Amino acid sequence: ITDKIAALPPGTSYFSLEFFPPKTAMGSSNLRARLDRMSRALRPLFVTVTWGAGGSTAEKSLELAELCQRELGLTTCLHLTCTNMSKELVDKALEDAKALGVRNILALRGDPPRSSEYGTETAVEAEEFEWAIDLVRYIRKMYGDYFCIGVAAYPEGHADESHPEGQSMEHDLPYLVEKMKAGADFIMTQLFFDVEAYDAFEKRLREHESGAFKTIPIIPGMMPIQSYQMIKRTTKLSHAKMPPSITERLDVVRGDDEMVKKIGVDILSEIITHIKDEPGPGPRGFHFYTLNLEKAVSFILERTDLIPASPPDPDSEYAIIDLPLQP
Ligand code: FAD
Repeated sequence: ITDKIAALPPGTSYFSLEFFPPKTAMGSSNLRARLDRMSRALRPLFVTVTWGAGGSTAEKSLELAELCQRELGLTTCLHLTCTNMSKELVDKALEDAKALGVRNILALRGDPPRSSEYGTETAVEAEEFEWAIDLVRYIRKMYGDYFCIGVAAYPEGHADESHPEGQSMEHDLPYLVEKMKAGADFIMTQLFFDVEAYDAFEKRLREHESGAFKTIPIIPGMMPIQSYQMIKRTTKLSHAKMPPSITERLDVVRGDDEMVKKIGVDILSEIITHIKDEPGPGPRGFHFYTLNLEKAVSFILERTDLIPASPPDPDSEYAIIDLPLQP
């Protein structure tokens, strides 16, 4: 991923799409068709595949990673959590990912049981990995530079049982610095709607005295608004604040699903346009929590001009133009 970002021409923006493994065979075949369509039409720089806490979706996540990486030829990043995961499960996931040609891991701690948004927890005793940093260190120790490693960060601070005093950047920052020092290559953020909070977060990282975040890709997480109820639930679960100006716009149309989606596209597009215009050390990237849905993300990408031009078709007449002219 970081090689691909570094190879982008100056001034280019990019985006990634996140998918979760469906539970049923029907869901998988629908997603397969959708992924094929979306990857051709939208051309993401990379895709990511979520991991059920405790390894609950291990097999299905790897199947989806295989589809993305091997069959569709997409640069794929496998999320991997480590809490409630035995060392054997972590080893197997990394070995399997490597065997599939996956070169990117989003190294996460995972949520404690019950509060997980990502799947049913399996009760596995594990002491090896307590924090995401343990996984970053482990991957670097076992695989050297084979994997490009991403880590999570929280523009509004991480709300966690480990620090009941509440969410704050002050609490997270030292650990985020440690994750960088342990060998993380890029940062992907929690979803947010408070763009001012994001600006302050990024500024703080870029200017941090450690210098750890000076040039590292920081990819903000974008959650398209699919419905009024869903976005209320998601922001509550992820502890992301909805600025009153956004809540008001959604409240006015709350009974009309189509209007909620339409206003949602406007809101996300405004956030992206704002961030795109902010100066940064490298290309601007955006990560979309797609929830395996296609429409809203496609509208937003189109509106914000994030879809890259299609590569020239080698069979088209344009290819001939590139040939040297005969004297
Ligand atoms: P950590 O970096 O370990 O941090 C967790 C908390 O502990 C933070 O509050 C931090 O400040 C604190 N902390 C860190 N180290 C220490 C220490 N040494 N001592 C004391 N406190 C410490 N979950 C899934 O289950 N599956 C997924 O696929 C998934 N994908 C995600 C993708 C993104 C982009 C994001 C942002 C989150 C994702 N999550 C996923 C959720 C994630 O697992 C949870 O938010 C989890 O609670 C924290 O993970 P982390 O990697 O940030 O943990």
